[in-house]
Amino acid sequence: MLMPLELPRELHGLRFSSAIAWGQSPKEEQALACLEALEAVYFHGKTSEKGDLENPPHVLLSNNKHRSGFLDPEKLKPWGNVREYLAAGVVGMFSRQELEQIGAVLGSPASTLFAADFARLANKPFVDGFRINSRSAKLVFNPVELIPSGTTLLQIEAMVAGCDDCDPARNAVFDRFPSAKFFSGIGALVCSPLGSGLDSKRIRPLVFRRLEEWDHQRACPLCRLGSKPLYQEEVWEEIKKETQ
Ligand SMILES: [Zn+2]
Repeated sequence: MLMPLELPRELHGLRFSSAIAWGQSPKEEQALACLEALEAVYFHGKTSEKGDLENPPHVLLSNNKHRSGFLDPEKLKPWGNVREYLAAGVVGMFSRQELEQIGAVLGSPASTLFAADFARLANKPFVDGFRINSRSAKLVFNPVELIPSGTTLLQIEAMVAGCDDCDPARNAVFDRFPSAKFFSGIGALVCSPLGSGLDSKRIRPLVFRRLEEWDHQRACPLCRLGSKPLYQEEVWEEIKKETQ
């Protein structure tokens, strides 16, 4: 069923332009509330929005595994204003001195819009040029603009599980420009690694929540607690039904 495209009411009052000013960028909790309002993320038992629900649901994957939440970056796509507000939060995680070192911004194909929002707010050029090679099915980097040697590139991602998600874009840049120089940290709106693994020195997330996954229902502690396993697209529907 096609749903009408409508900005959630709780986001109407946000003064997006004000977030752009230094010191007024959203912090983790505000960013998380925005992302939940857009139903772009869900984390079982870790957010205040679901406080009224006695036993919030968790996620059933198509391979029958059970998971404690999900990320859905597609939900950010229509809302440039919300993305800009959230991007201001990620800009706010970098010091002025750090930003001064950055020559250009880029992001993996799934994060293109968000990385471009970040670049605009940080007053930096945005470099696009990723595409999938139709023969090798590999991600390649072929920007229209030539990146001057010595330029420090900053990688910005919208939603990642961990560093592995950031590697294909970085490797594609090195394939094309072997001497490319990257800023040491990767800025991310959301980072949700599965389990305990994460190189937290490399990723700087505005919103950080771990996710857990279990192979089947018998192994799932949330099922044992009486939480309902639901497909991703049903989770927020269920919460809205229960909290109305
Ligand atoms: Zn379960």
